[in-house]
This record gives sequence, structure tokens and C-alpha cells, in this order.
Amino acid sequence: MADKRQNNRRNNRNNDEDYNPKFRKVRKKVCALCSDENLVLDYKNADQLKKFINDKGKILPRRATGTCAKHQRDITLAIKRARHIAVLPYTQN
Ligand SMILES: [Zn+2]
Repeated sequence: MADKRQNNRRNNRNNDEDYNPKFRKVRKKVCALCSDENLVLDYKNADQLKKFINDKGKILPRRATGTCAKHQRDITLAIKRARHIAVLPYTQN
């Protein structure tokens, strides 16, 4: 698996002289809350909010989850509320 990926990268560089890993094409992430109209954020729903925190319990940045600014604010608020009522942890280990 790893070998194949490395080969692809090498081939890519050979084919395209302007190849620069800094400007590699990344798939645009879409906001999970914008794409699903029926999804309502609930601070009591730990399983839903767990998608937006890492294993240490930190809130993931927008660049990692792809959420829009409006919904990131909602998520942050919901996670902080969930932590206050001990549904989510403030920290782990
Ligand atoms: Zn959104």
C-alpha cells in the first residue's frame, strides 16, 4: 500500500514539472450540518458531538472537520455545554 502511494507521487512529479506538494489538490470537505438539513445539534447527544472532538477531548478545528464558521460556533457551544453537564470530558489521560 505504502509503496504504491510513493510510486504515484514519484510518477506525478515526473509528469508534472510544476508539481509542488505545497499546492497539492485536496478534496474540499463539506459541512456536515449544512449538508444534512434534518441534523440538529444537541448538547445532550454525546455520540453526535464526539465526531467533533479528538481523543484528548479537544474540539477539532474547522480545517479538520470541514464545518462552516456558523456551525463551528454552534458545535463549540454545544461541546462546552456538554462538558459542563459531564456528557463529554474536558480532558482525557
Ligand atoms: Zn454549516
